[in-house]
Amino acid sequence: MASLNVENLKVVYRGVILALNGVSLRAEPGEAVGLLGPNGAGKSTLVRAIAGLLHQYEGRVLDGKITLNGQDITHASALKVAALGLTPILEGRPVFRYLTVLENLTAAAHKLSPARARAITEEVFARFPRLYERRREQAGYLSGGEQQMLLLGMALLTEPRVLVVDEPSLGLAPILVEEVMRVLGELRREKGLTLILVEQNARAAFSLVERVYVLEQGRVAFEGSTQVAQSDADVMEFYLGAG
Ligand code: ATP
Repeated sequence: MASLNVENLKVVYRGVILALNGVSLRAEPGEAVGLLGPNGAGKSTLVRAIAGLLHQYEGRVLDGKITLNGQDITHASALKVAALGLTPILEGRPVFRYLTVLENLTAAAHKLSPARARAITEEVFARFPRLYERRREQAGYLSGGEQQMLLLGMALLTEPRVLVVDEPSLGLAPILVEEVMRVLGELRREKGLTLILVEQNARAAFSLVERVYVLEQGRVAFEGSTQVAQSDADVMEFYLGAG
């Protein structure tokens, strides 16, 4: 189990666009935390900053600190962050579209011994029988829900301690959104994962997380328990459009 702490983070793109303006967030070991908020609020930016991916988007941390289990990862590379057990699942379902399902899983398992990779791949197929059925098909032909399951399977093959999942429900039918949330909850319980769930779909997030942060224009507009967020009319209406 692992903890994540973000303190007063400021992030700028191309030296001029201030996307995060002093964001603080923490996730205790084994906790599931939601990061909510409208388009452009800065959610993906926070994911990129945590995962060491900002420079790929011409962004950089201007100020503040990110620690993983007490270790400073503010300016760490994506490889370093991954080696410390934090795995991001980025938005837009970035599978290798021209590789088969099995090849995608194999690519994700590059850090593992062949025996360990085999064991976890079997676990992934047992958990997602549909992926097993389609293991020889190109990932680009999978449905959105299947691709999301493939990404979860790929993430499991990195043996994560912290999973940061960006908008898994995007474009999925409600029944599949429920399924994704259920699987994330199972994984968290079974593996003691710390989970950061980024969602525009607040209702979906509420079914999984116990605390939420609502971002608005690069700042935390609300922070509190899921229960308090759900009973706060301002949060529900203005920030989440779910009133
Ligand atoms: P969405 O749900 O639409 O992804 P978000 O809450 O994840 O929204 P971000 O994508 O983090 O928001 O964007 C935060 C701000 O940073 C926005 O004003 C956006 O235009 C800007 N931004 C994001 N990526 C870049 C980039 N690569 N270059 C310049 N500005 C960017």
